[in-house]
Amino acid sequence: MILLARIRPPPRLLQQHRRNLSAKALANANLGFKRDVDLVEQQALVNRQGDLVRALKARKAPKEEIDAAVTLLKDLKFKLQEFEAASPKEEASQDESSGTSSQASGKRFREAVTNALERRMFFTNSFGIYGGVAGLFDYGPPGCAVKANVLSFWRQHFVVNDDLLEVDCPCLTPEAVLRASGHVEKFTDLMVRDVKEGHCFRADHVLKDFVKDALEKDPRMPAAKRDDYTRTLASLDDFSVEELGAKIKEYGIRAPDTKNDLSDPFPFNLMFGTPIGPTGLLQGYLRPETAQGIFVNFNELLYYNGGKLPFGAAQIGQAFRNEIAPRQGLLRVREFTLAEIEFFVDPADKSHPKFASVADLEFFLYPRAEQMSLKDPVKVRLGHAVAQKVINNETLGYYIGRTYLFLTALGINKNRLRFRQHLANEMAHYAADCWDAEIECSYGWIECVGLADRSAYDLKAHSTASKSNLVASRDLPEPVVVEEFAAVPNRKEIGVAFKANQKLVLEALQELNNEEALEMQKKLESDGEAPLHICNADKTFTIKKGMVTFNKQVTKKSKEKFTPSVIEPSFGIGRIIYCLFEHCFDTRGGVDGQLNVFRFPPLVAPVKCTVFPLVQNPKLDGIARAISAKLREAGIGNKIDTTGRSIGRRYARTDEIGVPFAITVDSEDGVTVRDRDSKDQIRVPLEEVVDLIADMSAGKRSWKEVQGVYPAHVAAKASDETDE
Ligand code: AMP
Repeated sequence: MILLARIRPPPRLLQQHRRNLSAKALANANLGFKRDVDLVEQQALVNRQGDLVRALKARKAPKEEIDAAVTLLKDLKFKLQEFEAASPKEEASQDESSGTSSQASGKRFREAVTNALERRMFFTNSFGIYGGVAGLFDYGPPGCAVKANVLSFWRQHFVVNDDLLEVDCPCLTPEAVLRASGHVEKFTDLMVRDVKEGHCFRADHVLKDFVKDALEKDPRMPAAKRDDYTRTLASLDDFSVEELGAKIKEYGIRAPDTKNDLSDPFPFNLMFGTPIGPTGLLQGYLRPETAQGIFVNFNELLYYNGGKLPFGAAQIGQAFRNEIAPRQGLLRVREFTLAEIEFFVDPADKSHPKFASVADLEFFLYPRAEQMSLKDPVKVRLGHAVAQKVINNETLGYYIGRTYLFLTALGINKNRLRFRQHLANEMAHYAADCWDAEIECSYGWIECVGLADRSAYDLKAHSTASKSNLVASRDLPEPVVVEEFAAVPNRKEIGVAFKANQKLVLEALQELNNEEALEMQKKLESDGEAPLHICNADKTFTIKKGMVTFNKQVTKKSKEKFTPSVIEPSFGIGRIIYCLFEHCFDTRGGVDGQLNVFRFPPLVAPVKCTVFPLVQNPKLDGIARAISAKLREAGIGNKIDTTGRSIGRRYARTDEIGVPFAITVDSEDGVTVRDRDSKDQIRVPLEEVVDLIADMSAGKRSWKEVQGVYPAHVAAKASDETDE
């Protein structure tokens, strides 16, 4: 959760803009844009024609019809090649050694990935037959399977591995909770409105689009104007409400669609509000994050954990944000799955018992100092970063390391992953340190996981608002003698004065802590009365002298109470999955056009294995069905294909949804197993194949290892390459 970042958008792209948006680079980007669009169209034509050829062949269309379609396909491919050859090579493409890369090349690639994802229903627009709603998406069968695998691995990697306490709280949250957390007041983005039509736009987007468009359309713009626009683009995330409004006015920016005037920017709260219950009296919201459900359960979780710190709690669930202008597909949506951890520590000791297990990891960090001096991310040993205090403490460092292991095990390319530290003005005032796991995809570097040391802010906020002491206790080095004040209510007087509310008042008085009781006593002595505010009822009562006395107790204490700090890793599951799709996507050539492959690791692959008989034959069919059933019994999702289609065609279909292994039943005592990525094949005895696939799917054995155990099968590989 980054509340302040919402009202003052984080300058996270600032450094990239400064590095990339020289006037020359912008002009080049402009020239490249049109070509990019044409290339996308050209590629789409080839893909569509390839689909047509496949469809014609599948329904055994007349030979002349197929030949004509193939000729056209060849022509289109030739044109595409010519086009690509004429296009200048992209400037800085990915630089594996530094972890940085150009963001210019994305569109064509993205189009190809999105086509493949939509074609096989990884995801689709929600409510499409009614026109859809921006920012809402459905996962289809393979998308659901990938998501379930990612979440199951998340549970294994974090909850099981670290004994986290998992909770599952409602999405519907009463206002009091989100008022205490600051969301009601501050969870906002700046918006402008078309004054005539009422259409809404994100203020920073309107300004950014205007400036980018102007720069792209007018390469001969006077240098001073170009300079001003470039500077505006670079400072976009740093503008205050007033500055943003002033720039929009200065440039005469109008509503993008109607060209009507725009209002001044104003904050728009991103929470979906809804009354709870039929009376409409209890205001609620759909939660914008899952964290609050953990904070409000802190006392019970601490008790469940035997009163001991440190401990972590976790929650996976839906979060809702009424984004003003959702764009970038799955990356900015209005409902998404979050997986969050709140790890509670003693602020005086933020060491982590298992830090040593991640200390030797080396990966890209982008610390504040490097960003400020416009340097690149640095590859650092995690232990060193924590020892040097680049990362504030061991617990935060531990979760950064575990997050790195989690994301790379899923299939995120380690050279396109970096942990970027928040700049001072991006962090909320109470936070001790914040890092984002950013993954590079065709949209640029995207924040997918936020990792923050939020100090004691959340528990203190809920303690104050709810009047429940969300605290833990620690042993004192030596016992101390303390004086404690407790309020002793005069039940009779309170009953007479507050009637229906007497229970509420009595309880609140009994729950006053030492400082609150002292303060009330002082006030009663000086003014004869004192206010008693009860947050969860949102009521204030006036307590008069005589309604309460105070008991002073002198006790010896060997423990002291304190509010724990919280380290919060917050995983945007949809963003991780989208980046994973891009990082795993590949194409290989085939006669009918490009063949798509998702190179998912077995861990996340939606289907682990396909089974098919080499030829249609009742015996081989029977064996294939028996293997498929045994795989299912072992919990391994698989697909069986007894259609008798060519082997190459069958492989192509399964590659497209990223199935890592294929079993071809070609004899009665043995099978051929094929690895999607290398296309290598091995011979495996019938009775061993289920265990083998189970081990490889669970990551217990790698393809390389098993290649050393089973003999290679060479002949069938050629058919896979050529059969299409
Ligand atoms: P935040 O609480 O804003 O730090 O967000 C936590 C995580 O949720 C981010 O790191 C993102 O991965 C994810 N996230 C935030 N907003 C959205 C959104 N509108 N759509 C999809 N994912 C989001």
